[in-house]
Amino acid sequence: MGKSDSDFYLFKGQFLYVSFSLILIVLFGIALFTVKLTANHIVIFSIVLIAQVGLAIYFKFLHQDIVKRLVDTEKNLLDSEKEMKYEAYFDDITKLPNERYLLDKIKENLHVNSFDKAVLVFEIDRLATIKASLGSLYSDRLLSMVAQRLQNQLSSQFIIGKLRNDQFVILIDHYQNHDDVLNFCKQLQKMMETPFEIQYSSLNYSLNIGISFYPKDAESENELINFAQIAIYEARNTPDHISFYETSMSDVRTAKVTLENDLYNALKNNELFLEYQPQVDSVTGEVISMEALVRWQHPKRGLISPGEFIPVAEESGLINPIGEWVLETACYQTKKLQVQLGKPIQIAVNLSLCQLFQENFVQTVQQILEKTELAPQSLQLELTESMTMNTAHLIPILHDLKSLGITLAVDDFGTGYSSLSYLGDLPIDCLKIDCSFVRKIQQSTSSEPLVDMIISMAKHLKLNVVAEGVEEVTQLNYLMKKECDFIQGYLISKPISFEQISNNLCNLQHKVREMITISQFNNTQ
Ligand code: C2E
Ligand code: CA
Ligand code: CA
Repeated sequence: MGKSDSDFYLFKGQFLYVSFSLILIVLFGIALFTVKLTANHIVIFSIVLIAQVGLAIYFKFLHQDIVKRLVDTEKNLLDSEKEMKYEAYFDDITKLPNERYLLDKIKENLHVNSFDKAVLVFEIDRLATIKASLGSLYSDRLLSMVAQRLQNQLSSQFIIGKLRNDQFVILIDHYQNHDDVLNFCKQLQKMMETPFEIQYSSLNYSLNIGISFYPKDAESENELINFAQIAIYEARNTPDHISFYETSMSDVRTAKVTLENDLYNALKNNELFLEYQPQVDSVTGEVISMEALVRWQHPKRGLISPGEFIPVAEESGLINPIGEWVLETACYQTKKLQVQLGKPIQIAVNLSLCQLFQENFVQTVQQILEKTELAPQSLQLELTESMTMNTAHLIPILHDLKSLGITLAVDDFGTGYSSLSYLGDLPIDCLKIDCSFVRKIQQSTSSEPLVDMIISMAKHLKLNVVAEGVEEVTQLNYLMKKECDFIQGYLISKPISFEQISNNLCNLQHKVREMITISQFNNTQ
């Protein structure tokens, strides 16, 4: 009910009341002149009149109170309406226009004039990792500071907003040429060079920027944003982190988006499973360990290799739940195998960088070990060389992991670009020679300097060394001659299912011992 309605009803009530009082007074007046009134009549009439006056005063106050309450209610309604409007149109972290408002604004703008326009979508580089390692309070603060900086430093003529997925959007209303837009993008990136002071730390961040043009690429606001988002995907992997949309990008991106969506369901629907590849002691021929390798049985596409879906999982942040599932399943199945074999076979599990920087990662590993009752000495975590670049952040985490009693290996060793000096600083136990070096071993007699160097460096640093991708007997002979500690590759066994490894390990063991003995014999000739 509106204010005017309530006024009308109150007025109507008062009008009836006043009319009724007047009728009473008139009736009494007539009675006074026509009937002979006694003192009793006058007393009764006076009481009625006093009651009338009392009621009139009471209604007056009642009216005031009702009106006041109605005004208050209306004010509250207006306030919450404003709040609702704000929530509907503004992002609560950055206070920038949200997706809905932004789309309306861009749509409006596209129809105002026929200038060529550009839509920029940009994001803070590796925000998902920042969120995983420093928490969402930190990343929200960072987003709001970036928004503030944009608003302070850009002219108010720009339409700036934020999308649901932590990406920002800017509409350039009018540009002369391609370089104009490129320069503007560089200016945006430069703005982020001044460090952000958050939680006693001072860090600067870079931006990935994707651009689409109106009307060249698309004519609708939705498509323009979508295409700029596709371009951002490419921007993440280009040196200047800026990418202009091209039609050829759509197919690749659409395939990635589909894969990402399917991957969300893969864990829930039990489509992931592990295979195990044995690692053998080059002196005794014992299978001492195995590497867990994740596989995805896609309901439509069939088997998808980790080389295809792990990068998608890493980009989408899905690697954290997937990695946790891999770790728990690998520990659980290894414990089962240990009980069955009556010997402490080890397990090596691959890690992605995001997992390592995940909050409470060390506790997660500890809990999984406790839950599966696997001895910590039986678990080795594999890091890739590129992960070891940010050593300042990494070293404390690695020490915490080591204090659980587990061991650490550097995978794909020799393929990274980091300086070798870091090796001495990291609390690692093992180097895995990348298969690309092993593949170069053609003859057991010729020299393969890089393999020699890695093995000798590992020996000096008192680290174990594993050769991966061993496919040929000549490679095995060479590696054994150079005293490489452990051998892994198709020559020993391809990655196999848990059932296969638990049913056939004895046969496999037998075959491998024979192979190693023959190699030892060949090397002594
Ligand atoms: P990686 O850790 O270097 O794993 C070794 C890869 O080499 C495996 O490929 C394995 O099947 C393959 N391989 C083993 N022996 C031979 C051989 O003799 N010849 C050849 N040509 N290849 C051999 P796969 O299983 O396709 O895994 C590819 C990569 O995916 C892995 O490389 C690893 O980086 C990643 N990955 C696999 N499982 C996981 C996981 O659970 N988590 C994470 N973060 N990454 C994983
Ligand atoms: Ca590995
Ligand atoms: Ca490897």
